[in-house]
Amino acid sequence: IDVQRYAVTGEFDWSRGRLVATVAMTLLPGDDGLRSLRLDSAVAEVKAVRLAGGADLPYAVDAEPGALRIDVSRVPGIAADQAITLEIDYEAAESEALRAIPARWGDPAASRVVYTISEPLNAALWMPCHNTPEDRAVFSIDLAMDAHETMIANGMLVSDEQGASGRRMKYATDYTVPIYLMAFAIGDFEVEGTMKGSLPVSVWHRRGVPGDYGRLLDEVVRSIGLFEELLVPYPFEKYAVVLVPEFGGGIENLGISFQGELGSTAPTISEDLKLTIHEIGHQWFGDLVTVESWDDLWIKEGMATLLASEGARVYLDESGEGTLNGDSFSAGSHNPIVDPDRAPADKYTSGPYGRAAWLLTQIRSLVGEGAFWGTLRDILDDHRFGAIGTDEFLDAFAGPLGPDAAARARRAVRASALPHLDLGRSPSGGVLVTLRDPDGALVAPIDLLWIADDGTTRSQVLEVDQGVDVAPQREGELLILDPLDRHVSWHHLVDFSERPEDLPARLSSFRVPTSPSQVARLLEAGGVHQTAVLGAGLPEPVTPDAFAAFLAGLDAEDAKAMAVWVACIRAADPALDPALRAAWSRALAPLLAGPPYARWTEFTPWLEYGACGEVVDVLALYADEWSALAAGPPAGDVSDAHLRFLYNFDLPLETVLSSWGNVARHSSSLRARSLATTRIRTEADRAPPEDFPAFRAFFSEIVASTEVPDLLSEALTGLSRTMAPTAAENAEALAALSHQLRTASTTPFDGWVVCVAFALTQGDAAAWSELVGGLDGVELSAEAVEMLANPSRC
Ligand SMILES: [Zn+2]
Repeated sequence: IDVQRYAVTGEFDWSRGRLVATVAMTLLPGDDGLRSLRLDSAVAEVKAVRLAGGADLPYAVDAEPGALRIDVSRVPGIAADQAITLEIDYEAAESEALRAIPARWGDPAASRVVYTISEPLNAALWMPCHNTPEDRAVFSIDLAMDAHETMIANGMLVSDEQGASGRRMKYATDYTVPIYLMAFAIGDFEVEGTMKGSLPVSVWHRRGVPGDYGRLLDEVVRSIGLFEELLVPYPFEKYAVVLVPEFGGGIENLGISFQGELGSTAPTISEDLKLTIHEIGHQWFGDLVTVESWDDLWIKEGMATLLASEGARVYLDESGEGTLNGDSFSAGSHNPIVDPDRAPADKYTSGPYGRAAWLLTQIRSLVGEGAFWGTLRDILDDHRFGAIGTDEFLDAFAGPLGPDAAARARRAVRASALPHLDLGRSPSGGVLVTLRDPDGALVAPIDLLWIADDGTTRSQVLEVDQGVDVAPQREGELLILDPLDRHVSWHHLVDFSERPEDLPARLSSFRVPTSPSQVARLLEAGGVHQTAVLGAGLPEPVTPDAFAAFLAGLDAEDAKAMAVWVACIRAADPALDPALRAAWSRALAPLLAGPPYARWTEFTPWLEYGACGEVVDVLALYADEWSALAAGPPAGDVSDAHLRFLYNFDLPLETVLSSWGNVARHSSSLRARSLATTRIRTEADRAPPEDFPAFRAFFSEIVASTEVPDLLSEALTGLSRTMAPTAAENAEALAALSHQLRTASTTPFDGWVVCVAFALTQGDAAAWSELVGGLDGVELSAEAVEMLANPSRC
């Protein structure tokens, strides 16, 4: 069968947690569907099936394979190539595909949202359909909601009516959409918008969720502009980033990417930024051109991963050296790019993501920029509003690649083992490097570049199964591994556990500058090479006096972040001469000060800047921040990105509890509350028992005040860690746990809450029966009821 159109009408019934709807499907039955049509359906109930404007049709639901069979044998004049429209009345229960998040107690932006997440096969949980990515269809959705709520869905808003009973909104596309990218979200959203030329660009977030939305919109506009230059014009009528709760990551619903609200609001953080750009990249690969089958997943994920790094290039390599971001991809052995043995939902390994982006990057390096982007444009033109499979995609590159490399690429998509480098001693005092590639995963060669003091260069290529002597030949030669950066980091290729330790270190030492002139060479080499070298430590010739200039000369935000981090490690070395240490402290303090904060502090805020706290006095340096956090205002003057940076520093317990404790309790940002609660929980993990009562009081307060999973899980972990040896000492915590069970709506954490309470009674039967008695008549999850009846199962 071939579905041409889905039109959904209905509403989400919050009281029953069900989407009550009718879908009208216009389809061509095909030769196989002339007597009985088989659709995919995993909805809770199919209530009726009829021919549009006609009679009811007999149907049968086969729950196990998720099939809905409709008897169409008596449809008058049915023919394989004649479209018919079926109307299906159904109810879909809330599920991983139809997520209904109520207004949560203890959420600073307490409002409900219902939204869909369908990839790869979950669309059938909320709508009977033909569940295969290449059967694209026109989509419309018309749903009722409360008067103060709003809906976003794919396509144009075609009607929006306020009536006595609430609001109805309808969206429709006039082009085809793959089934897994049809989506809607309904909630009390605030919308921040801008225009990119005639294209409306917006961010939708729950009312009151704070974020750096101006910056986010800027990055969205910039990335769309970049991809329009590299690829083809943005193909749809709008682009929206829709932030939703209780979702990690993102999904590229056509024209309306859904992203988790705890990981997207701070676009100065590289992870937030790359997620946003990844989903934008999918609008071309995945949405405009989708994949024929889930085995071809790598085409859209590999391209989106490559495009995310390309979009972040302005921060990853400001030098414009033309490096290819290979280091930013990760790959795992035994996670092939195409893996037909895995079920669709299990295919989401590093294979179709980083490893596929690596393959595409190797192809890019071989065919050159013009042919690479030109071939992609041809693919987008030839398959727009259609699909493409693995063979056809690779065939498109066969001309520019030539027969040998094209054959290698076809083999590489199915390779399991990664290539690896065997290291041995060489008589020259260097390292004998032998490239092994048992499964044929490599398409482009791995090459090395030596740069001498006078700027002259020398190249080496690693050949499969042939030992290559890697050693400097002239005084002052500096090694650049993989100068184009078309391959993943060599940490993927060298087995550090099996090799004698000194060989990887020796190879690595050839890339680390040992003289001022080599430092100058490194600063000319491009951000990715700087980042890789700095990951191993600060080059010896960089002195405190020269550090600010060195930092300014680096070409990537993460290279700068890494440089400060390793400078702090160098300076924190207890063996260091006190005068030198003082010099480092003077050099680093102004670089770490703020606001305004340096961009690198926010780009990779998870680097362990803790060592910097041993060199500069972070209590004094960030005194304004600590007191702002401790005093409020609840939103704070400190961004979520900078909070993540401050998270790294050790503080006196008092300051931890006053500053982070206040953020955890009162911030208007759930993301900040979650970070602060985690910060205090990590402190509790290493706290001595005499500090337990203070932590217990904090975690009890959190448990008694929120049902938000991100906060509650940290607080429960913290309570388990800091419990006292008697029930009496744990009384406050037990009261909080009891309050949580009595007050919160039934949550998946109920059972865990019961088990923590049981542990905190410390075998005191009276305390346990008091807790159990207090829950009489309280509605709990099945798991919690079971644990209450039989706590030994905890
Ligand atoms: Zn993706």
